Amino acid sequence: MAKHTDVLVIGSGLAGLFVALNINPDKEVILLAKEKIDHSSSMLAQGGIAAEMDDTPVNLESHVKDTMEAGSYHNQIEAVRFLVENARNVINKLIDFGVSFDMDDTDGFLFTKEGGHTRHRILHIGGDRSGFFVTRALQKKIMAQPNITLIDGAMALNLIVNENTCMGATILTDNKYEAITATHTVLATGGIGSVYGSTTNDLSATGDGIGMVDRVGVPTRDMEFIQFHPTAFHDETNKSRKKFLITEALRGEGAHLINIDHKRFMQKYDPKHMELAPRDIVSQSIFREMYDTWTDHVYLDTRHLETTDLQKRFPGIDKHLRKHGITLGKDLIPVSPCEHFLCGGIETDLQGKTRLTGLFALGETAYTGVHGANRLASNSLLECIVFGDAIAKKINATDTCKETYTFKDTLHHMNEHQFNYKPIRKKIGDLMDEHVGIVRTTKGLQSTHKILSEIKENLIKEPNRTRPYYETLNMVTTAMKINEQALNRKESIGCHLRIN
Ligand SMILES: Cc1cc2nc3c(=O)[nH]c(=O)nc-3n(C[C@H](O)[C@H](O)[C@H](O)COP(=O)(O)OP(=O)(O)OC[C@H]3O[C@@H](n4cnc5c(N)ncnc54)[C@H](O)[C@@H]3O)c2cc1C
Repeated sequence: MAKHTDVLVIGSGLAGLFVALNINPDKEVILLAKEKIDHSSSMLAQGGIAAEMDDTPVNLESHVKDTMEAGSYHNQIEAVRFLVENARNVINKLIDFGVSFDMDDTDGFLFTKEGGHTRHRILHIGGDRSGFFVTRALQKKIMAQPNITLIDGAMALNLIVNENTCMGATILTDNKYEAITATHTVLATGGIGSVYGSTTNDLSATGDGIGMVDRVGVPTRDMEFIQFHPTAFHDETNKSRKKFLITEALRGEGAHLINIDHKRFMQKYDPKHMELAPRDIVSQSIFREMYDTWTDHVYLDTRHLETTDLQKRFPGIDKHLRKHGITLGKDLIPVSPCEHFLCGGIETDLQGKTRLTGLFALGETAYTGVHGANRLASNSLLECIVFGDAIAKKINATDTCKETYTFKDTLHHMNEHQFNYKPIRKKIGDLMDEHVGIVRTTKGLQSTHKILSEIKENLIKEPNRTRPYYETLNMVTTAMKINEQALNRKESIGCHLRIN
């Protein structure tokens, strides 16, 4: 007999935590975390959350305009307005949940600026440890909430669907396989970083949400718009695919980009915005500089800035760089672009609803229309909470249904082989880096499609009820979606650069 709950939230990053906390206490919530609760990209966020706390029409309009401009006007304007206009309200909810933003001496918010923003509107916490502190505060709150049960080490495998309605999901915990039926299921499974050879994401980001919806025919959109962060720390000794991020806020505080010949180069590509151009432009400019100078990195230069100010403002980055013998304000910081953020995802409306009744999606796995062809910095944490609030309101307005669904198990007799899928994962990452990265060609995308199709076919032929199998299947499914949608988009726009 399957467990039943009112709300099943899959994923415990900021998106999942915020939805769960906003569900009325009379509804029972089960919250799943694939690993320990503190494994998420939300925990890693540095820069902060964009929000006009002085929300005059002029300020709101400027946030809308910056978001649209960064997204090459490919964004859905209603979604952008919804995001920007609800920002202050959800930031106040975070404060009520115990989040303490960085303040000045007069108890006013301290705001920073990042690429693509024309105003200082980014709230931060602990200097450059915004994600850690916001997520930790909500985790603490979750633990004290009697209506929420957290199950960690639990991977959702498949959605349970009956006649166009989602009825929950099957899950795998410590090799125990079970079903959880639910009146409402919320996908908050985060990004897709592990699909690439190198990423800033937590490596648990294997595109599980995308794989799960694809298996039940729910559409995804704008998957070709993968944002490559311009300034991941370039560390020759790091063998992990996970790269340490050097936040854009460092450029917001005045850091310059220089090439291997120590020449500042952004004036060639975006003389108006220079280092604070939107991320697509900065990453593509760095790619071009690396190509022209036959190297694999450029530098962030902070030598004209005060060491003590930088150390105070960026304690996390300072600590990391010191381990590598680099001092902020004194030494050059080698950086290069790598996969950072999925701008598209599972198609949803302004209430987070997908095409299936009872199934919602939000956070990095969802397409809300907010980001367009390139996300504006610090809009994604905001997206998690604005849409989290909207989904919770929608669920709270629905009567609790105690009727449970009898789930007929389809995977029960599946094999459980401990196969090693690492070589396949490596192959997917290498292909995506080479052909579906910053620069894309028709030939590269077509050859990638052929190889990915073969990998997927082979995986489907040998089903295996294990976490590595399902992650690998989700990775190849996600890679195929990105690649197919990149092939279909012939023009270059935002993060998608087609050179032929
Ligand atoms: C280094 C870094 C810095 C960033 N800085 C900023 C910033 O300053 N400002 C900003 O706005 N954005 C920033 N971003 C982006 C932002 O952090 C993410 O887009 C956002 O946190 C995504 O939140 P999420 O809840 O959707 O996903 P995540 O935080 O990644 O959480 C996903 C959760 O789902 C779980 N999960 C996944 N699959 C399954 C499954 N099958 N079953 C059960 N659980 C599952 C995972 O274990 C995880 O708990 C940054 C990202 C990175 C990587």
